[in-house]
Amino acid sequence: MRGALGGPRVLLRRLREVMAEPVSAQERLDKIVVLIAANMVAEVCSVYVLRVDGTLELYATEGLNRQAVHLTVMRSDEGLVGLVATEASPINLNDAQAHPAFSYRPETGEEIYRSFLGVPILRAGNTLGVLVVQNRARRTYSEEEVEALQTTAMVLAEMIASGELTSLAQPGAEPAVRRPVHVSGAALTDAIALGHVVLHEPRVVITNFIADDVQKELRRLGVAIETLRAELDLMLESGEVAEGGEHRDVLEAYRMFAHDRGWVHKLEEAVLTGLTAEAAVERVQSDTRARMLRQTDPYLRERLHDFDDLAHRLQRQLLGYDHAPTRDKLPEHAIIVARSMGPAALLDYDRNRLRGLVLEEGGPNSHVAIVARALGIAAVGEVPNATGLADPGDAVIVDGVTGDVHVRPTPDMEAAYVERVRLRARRQLQYLSLRDRPSVTKDGQPITLMINAGLPVDLPHIAETGAAGIGLFRTELQFMVAAQFPRTSEQLALYRNVLDAAGGKPVVFRTLDIGGDKVLPYMRNYEEENPALGWRAIRLGLDRPGLLRSQVRAMLRAASGRELRIMFPMVAVVHEFDEAKGLVERELTHLRRHGHRLPERVEVGTMLEVPALLFQLDELLERVDFLSVGSNDLLQFLFAADRGNARVANRFDPLSVPVLRVLKMIVDRADAHGKSVTLCGELASKPIGALALVALGYRAFSLLPSAVGPVKAMLLDLDAGKVERLVASLMTLPLGSASVRAKLTAFAEAEGLTL
Ligand code: PEP
Ligand code: MG
Repeated sequence: MRGALGGPRVLLRRLREVMAEPVSAQERLDKIVVLIAANMVAEVCSVYVLRVDGTLELYATEGLNRQAVHLTVMRSDEGLVGLVATEASPINLNDAQAHPAFSYRPETGEEIYRSFLGVPILRAGNTLGVLVVQNRARRTYSEEEVEALQTTAMVLAEMIASGELTSLAQPGAEPAVRRPVHVSGAALTDAIALGHVVLHEPRVVITNFIADDVQKELRRLGVAIETLRAELDLMLESGEVAEGGEHRDVLEAYRMFAHDRGWVHKLEEAVLTGLTAEAAVERVQSDTRARMLRQTDPYLRERLHDFDDLAHRLQRQLLGYDHAPTRDKLPEHAIIVARSMGPAALLDYDRNRLRGLVLEEGGPNSHVAIVARALGIAAVGEVPNATGLADPGDAVIVDGVTGDVHVRPTPDMEAAYVERVRLRARRQLQYLSLRDRPSVTKDGQPITLMINAGLPVDLPHIAETGAAGIGLFRTELQFMVAAQFPRTSEQLALYRNVLDAAGGKPVVFRTLDIGGDKVLPYMRNYEEENPALGWRAIRLGLDRPGLLRSQVRAMLRAASGRELRIMFPMVAVVHEFDEAKGLVERELTHLRRHGHRLPERVEVGTMLEVPALLFQLDELLERVDFLSVGSNDLLQFLFAADRGNARVANRFDPLSVPVLRVLKMIVDRADAHGKSVTLCGELASKPIGALALVALGYRAFSLLPSAVGPVKAMLLDLDAGKVERLVASLMTLPLGSASVRAKLTAFAEAEGLTL
C-alpha cells in the first residue's frame, strides 16, 4: 500500500498490543498517535475529543506542539477538524490551507502542513471526536489510507465510550459520550416517567475488533451473508411473513439489499483493513447511520434504515445473539428505547416494570402509541437517533406530556422532574377521592362519564376511574395488536371478558374500524390515494360481510342473557345503517334458530363522524337506538384537515362557532327524537371541551380513562346553567371572532374551575 508502512493490518495488530498494555490513558493515547503517524508516514497525527460543551479538545498529538495538548479547544463549527465532526465524514485534502474552512491555531504550529486527512470518530452514528493525520508535502491520501484511519478511529471510539479518558478531563469538559442529552419528539401519552434505558433491540457488543486471520474473517462474513440471504428467502416463502407481522415489502427490500454488490463490497473492504467480520459490519453500519442522520429525503432515509436493519441482522448472525435477551428479565423502572415497534411487542414486556417508551418512529396515531396510552406509560415518538443516543442502563426521563426526553439528565433536571411526578401523583390522589362521588354539576345536572377502551389492559380503568361504563369499545385494537386475524372464538372471549369486567355497566361495542390509518399488517393492503376517505370501517364491513357477520355473532354470543350495544363506524348514509342493522337481525335469527341463548336486549346505534349524516339526522334518529359523536373524524372531515398531520391538525379550533353550531344541531335533534347522544371523541377528554359540550346540552361523554378525574373535578364545581347562557350568547357573535376558547377560559377562571 502506497505511503503506509506495513499497511493497516500491521497497524491494527500493534494497536491491539497497545490497548492491552497496563499504562495510563494519556500514555496509551500518546503511543497510538505515534503508531499511526509512523504507519501512515505522516508527520502529524492528532486526536480531538468532542466535549460535553460541544467543543473539540486536542487530547494527543504526534508532530504538533505537545504543549497544546488539553489546551487547544475549538468550537465544533471551527476549522477543518470542526467540519469533519459536524459532517461526520472524512475530509481528504492535498492543500488544506486553500480550503475555506481552514483556521490557523498558532499554538499548535500547524501552518507548515499542507496535506490533511481527518476522519470522524464514530459510534452508533454519533461523532465522539476527530482523528487527523497531516503531511508537510502536498499529498493525496489513498482510499486505503482513508479506510485504515477510519478503522483505527473505531478503536478510539470504544476507548472514549469506555470512559477511560474521562479522568483526563477538566470537570464540566468531559468527553461528550456520556453527556446529558435533551431531545424532543412527539408527545404520545399523558404520563411522565423516570427510569433506565433498555434497548428493544440490544446493540450487539463487539469485544474483538482486530482480526487474527483476515482470510478466516472473510470466510465468516461470506457464510453469514449467505445464511442471512437464505433466512430472508425462507421468511418470504413460508407463511411466516403474516405470522411475524412483518410487511412483505420490507422483507423484499431487505432481500434486494442483501444481494447488493456495493454493500457486500464495502463489508469485504472493511475486513481487508484488518477488522473482524463483526467489526467490519459495525464500521459500515456506523457510516450508514451517520449518513442517515443527515439525510432529509424521507425515501432515502428509509432505505438507509433498511441497510441499518440488515447490518443488525448480519451482526446477530455472526455473533449468535438472540433477539431480545432482556424481555423477560426487565429491570425495575424500565424505559424501552427502540427505532420502531409493533403494538404486540410492547405488550410482551412486563407491565409491572415497564415505565416508558422512546421511539425513533411512531407518531401519535401509530398503533404502538395507542397501546402505550392504554398501558398508561410515558411515551415519546419521532425522536431522531434515540437508539444511538442512549446506552443500556442510562438514566432517562420521558415526558409523554411535552414530548421531551432527557438522557443522562443533570441532577437539577432530575430534581425538577421528581417534583413534577410528585405533584401529578398528588393530583391523581385527589381524583381518586372523587371516584365514588356522583358526577353531577353544582346546579344538579347529572353528567354520564364513561371511558374509551379497546384492549384487556384497559379494563381495570373502569373500576379505577369509577366510570359509568365503556362508551366506546374499539374492537379493531384486538385486530391491530394481533399477528393474524383473531378467530371468532378469540373475539368472543375478549367481548365476554369486557362485559364481565364492566359488571353490568353498559358497554358500547363498535364494529371493526379498520382501513384508513388503521392497517392490519396481515391483511392485503390496497394502495389508496386518500385512505381516510377510502375503503374503511363499515364500507369494508358491508362489502366483506363475512368479517362483520362473524364479529357480530361473537358479540351476540358473548352477551347472552345480558344487554348488548352495537355501534357502526363511519356511516355516511342511512342506508348503510339499515344494511348493517339487517345483518345484526339476521344473526339474531340464526342464533335463535340454533338454540343459543340470546342477549336480553340489543341496542343498535351509530357513530356520527361523516358530515353527510348531518343532513339526514331526522331519518337517522328514527332508526337508531343511540348516537355517538366521533368528533375526531367529524372535525377532520368538516375542516378537510387531516387529524394526523401536525401542520394542519391545530389550524382550526374545535371551540369555534361553526363547530359549536354543528354539535348543537346534533344534540337538539337527538333530544327532539328522544334518543341518547354521547360524544366519544377526544374533545370531551379536555375539561374545556367538556365545558363547552355541557353548555350545548350534551349530558354523556366517553373519555380517555386519564381524563375522567380532571373532567369530573371541573363538572362538580360547574354551574351548567351559567355556562349554557354564556355559550348561547357567544354563538350569536359574528363569525369573525370564531373561537370562543378565550371567553370560556376566562369564564372558568372567574368561576374557579380547573381546566
Ligand atoms: C372519533 O372519530 O372521534 C372516534 C372516537 O373514533 P376513532 O378515534 O377511533 O376514529
Ligand atoms: Mg373515528
